[in-house]
Amino acid sequence: MSPLSNLAVRDIETVLHPYTNLATHRDTGPMVLERGQGIYVYDSSGKEYIEGMAGLWCTALGYGNEELVEAAASQMRRLSFSHLFAGKSHDPGIELAEKLKAIAPNEASKVFFVNSGSEANDTQIKLVWYYNNALGRPNKKKIIARTRGYHGVTVAAASLTGLPANHTDFDLPIANILHTDCPHPYRGMEAGESEEDFASRMAASLDELIQREGPDTVAAFIAEPVMGAGGVIIPPKTYYEKIKAVLDKHDVLFIDDEVICGFGRLGTMFGAEAMGMKPHTVSVAKALSSAYLPIGAVIIDDPMYQATVDESRKIGTFGHGYTYSGHPVAAAVAVKTLEIYERDDIVGQVNSVSPTFKKRLDAIGEHPLTGQARGLGLIGALELVADKATKRPFDSKKGVGARVAAFAEEEGLILRAMAGDIVALCPPLVISESEVDEMFDRLGRALDRAEAWVGSENLR
Ligand code: PMP
Repeated sequence: MSPLSNLAVRDIETVLHPYTNLATHRDTGPMVLERGQGIYVYDSSGKEYIEGMAGLWCTALGYGNEELVEAAASQMRRLSFSHLFAGKSHDPGIELAEKLKAIAPNEASKVFFVNSGSEANDTQIKLVWYYNNALGRPNKKKIIARTRGYHGVTVAAASLTGLPANHTDFDLPIANILHTDCPHPYRGMEAGESEEDFASRMAASLDELIQREGPDTVAAFIAEPVMGAGGVIIPPKTYYEKIKAVLDKHDVLFIDDEVICGFGRLGTMFGAEAMGMKPHTVSVAKALSSAYLPIGAVIIDDPMYQATVDESRKIGTFGHGYTYSGHPVAAAVAVKTLEIYERDDIVGQVNSVSPTFKKRLDAIGEHPLTGQARGLGLIGALELVADKATKRPFDSKKGVGARVAAFAEEEGLILRAMAGDIVALCPPLVISESEVDEMFDRLGRALDRAEAWVGSENLR
């Protein structure tokens, strides 16, 4: 291992890293990134990487976009801060709300601004509770999320998240949050079962959970159109129409978490369109500003808005909001981002490169390490297995996924290894066809090196 740089040593002494193996980080140190352009980032030694994860599924327009830089700078010069509390407003906030309302995949009525995906989903929970109090249904409060779903890390959002690392030793989930099955065809479908039958089984399982808990205690269901951090899991055909029928039967609200899928990722403006979802409320963040500044939003329908007005009338104020809800600089950048998506037809761009992405993904599915390669639009994943025929996973302690990601970094590609030896790909949406090819060439070399390592370590 090469000696740690001065920056790396200072990092180890000072920074507590999110989502990091804190024990090994003391020895390995950080990858210190310094600059970016297009789909590429460069570390402090000048080495180039394709950002195959768009940062954290978020830098949709890539790096170094001068129009976004200019939008931020000019808003900072004009009005660097103002807020939306106590009836104050500002033009970037109004314009952004209008734009979101016009394109949202629900029957959008009002937009509430937040700074992150976690805050969006926390706000969703609070709004659902407020709504049911307004309707005089104080017992209808439980929220159902899904195993392996990802909805953030604040206390309530982490409770929605269905991954063990977000609950264990954090004393989560909190009360009133439940989890139903993950619709993962590769792992969940039984022999001989069709996708439609699997979807029916998933919907029946949700129905049973609601019946068992008592429909008058269940308020809402939350889902990502395609699960991201849980492993890029694409639900089986007909899943959402069957889920929606169960929700409607029990008068349960449908919350659509578009934090990853929103703004073109699946080849439609929102994941809901690709997946046939009909949500009541929607969470967005990440690509809303192409990650140039932190901003997110909750987009609610009119019944929820009316109930919120009624409930807050009793109390005198709607007692929720962040200092930076609708920060004018972040809002100005988001307005410009949405303008660029429209002007440059981001959805058309995704649909023009995604056939190449899909072709290369399918080909890499033939690699001896890959049990399944799956994807939609410009998101994909490889599920690595010890035995392709039986789908037997590797011993999780051997870190095969992490090793693939490490080899990929050496080859100049940043990926993300997730639980279950799943390796995700989620490049900036502005990637070109030749850059898609270059990304998969680098991934192929990393997989070959990992395959040789698996052999030499006898990991099968
Ligand atoms: N929802 C989804 C679907 C996400 O992928 C994420 C972040 N990966 C979040 C919510 C949480 O967003 P944040 O990290 O901005 O709080």
